[in-house]
Amino acid sequence: MKATEVIADLQRRFPNEPEYHQAVEEVLTTIEDIYNAHPQFERMNLIERLIIPDRIFTFRVSWVDDAGHVRTNMGYRVQHNNAIGPYKGGIRFHSSVNLSILKFLAFEQTFKNSLTTLAMGGAKGGSDFSPRGKSDMEIMRFCQAFITELWRHIGADTDVPAGDIGVGAREVGYMYGWYKKQAREFTGTFTGKGIDFGGSLIRPEATGYGNCYFMLNMLATRGIDIKGKRVAISGSGNVANYTARKITQLGAKVVSMSDSSGALIAPDGFTDEQLQHIFDIKELYRGRLSEALEEYPELTYLLGERPWRHVQCDIAMPSATQNELDGDDARALLAGGTFAVSEGANMPSTPEAIHEFLAARILYAPGKAANAGGVATSGLEMAQNSQKLSWTADEVDARLANIMADIHAQCVRFGKDPDDETGYVNYVKGANVAGFMKVARAMTAQGIL
Ligand code: NDP
Repeated sequence: MKATEVIADLQRRFPNEPEYHQAVEEVLTTIEDIYNAHPQFERMNLIERLIIPDRIFTFRVSWVDDAGHVRTNMGYRVQHNNAIGPYKGGIRFHSSVNLSILKFLAFEQTFKNSLTTLAMGGAKGGSDFSPRGKSDMEIMRFCQAFITELWRHIGADTDVPAGDIGVGAREVGYMYGWYKKQAREFTGTFTGKGIDFGGSLIRPEATGYGNCYFMLNMLATRGIDIKGKRVAISGSGNVANYTARKITQLGAKVVSMSDSSGALIAPDGFTDEQLQHIFDIKELYRGRLSEALEEYPELTYLLGERPWRHVQCDIAMPSATQNELDGDDARALLAGGTFAVSEGANMPSTPEAIHEFLAARILYAPGKAANAGGVATSGLEMAQNSQKLSWTADEVDARLANIMADIHAQCVRFGKDPDDETGYVNYVKGANVAGFMKVARAMTAQGIL
């Protein structure tokens, strides 16, 4: 396999899918050597079978808004690969959603889920519907219309969706309710459900907390204590908020948060009260981050900006969306002394930014590894649902911490170059090789499907 040729062919066959090409290129260039060291993989044409999803459902979603107007959106589910377990991956509701973005997310999800050590394949779905500004009833009607199309293709042992951007507990509740009514069964077909109907404790916190646990593991390889460190975070949704909460619990300072309208900066760190206020604005009132200024005018708000060029930080944890940290942002962070980056979002750093981080040999964890705590805890939710049991928060949290330590160990094992005396760990390579090998072995054993 020659990665450059495979990528060129992919671009020719599936033009206009830049995010998908970007994700495939990142994986293929790092697994090329190990793939070619296993001729049985090439005999099974694993690469082509991995870069083309198993199947994709595309459908129209029609719903009625509060004013009585009939609205239409696109709906998708990309079932990428189920070699090691049922399809598993979130659903994203955002105006930017298209097939390129969902194919990249499903592709990444396959390797991420493999890294978690749990039995889950990879999938992703969503719609170009934006929940922002919609009433609760509009969101419920949309979720029901979306599931009316999708419910036949998902199931506890088939395909288990969860949340992502624009899809939190409220949306999962509406989708699961409608699924349950259509399928006439109460099973763990969604994760991220409410605690009262099968949701797991710590699932809301898991992606952010897991990223912090991964960061602690990385820092330990260099003997660095996180206490007192300045941490820049982007986003102010599920992942960003729980990252901020855990970071402050660990004794570090959060110096930025953001949303798609701008960045909020606190050079000396947000107080616990300020972070709680931001959490309430976003989670309870579904407001905008800039509203925090009404309560805390001493904070700096930068309209239309991302945090990276406006803060000095030791650690950066991008937790909003893909390609939100570019080469110039990376150079600004490095110039300001940033020595660790751990991605809460999926593919937030552009290829140029990743190149800068690796060239500077800082600690850099790709989202595939660092944010895998979310889906890992979804896996734990599936396990609890099938046993019809609920574990305590402490038990789930302890399992999450163990899984993140395990993912870190896999990255070190496959990301350390034995010829490099400095012992530098390339976490991108480590995560890709570890995630790929398990899927590749399973696909080889199962024959041509
Ligand atoms: P939320 O919808 O809860 O929050 C998303 C946050 O990112 C919001 O602050 C949002 O701002 C901001 N954002 C969204 N799009 C953009 C954009 N184009 N430019 C700038 N900011 C943007 O989503 P999550 O926190 O769940 O997801 C965040 C990231 O983490 C995504 O990449 C997701 O795929 C990834 N992830 C999530 C997991 C989970 O368990 N939820 C698991 C693993 C990864 P605004 O409010 O203005 O839209």
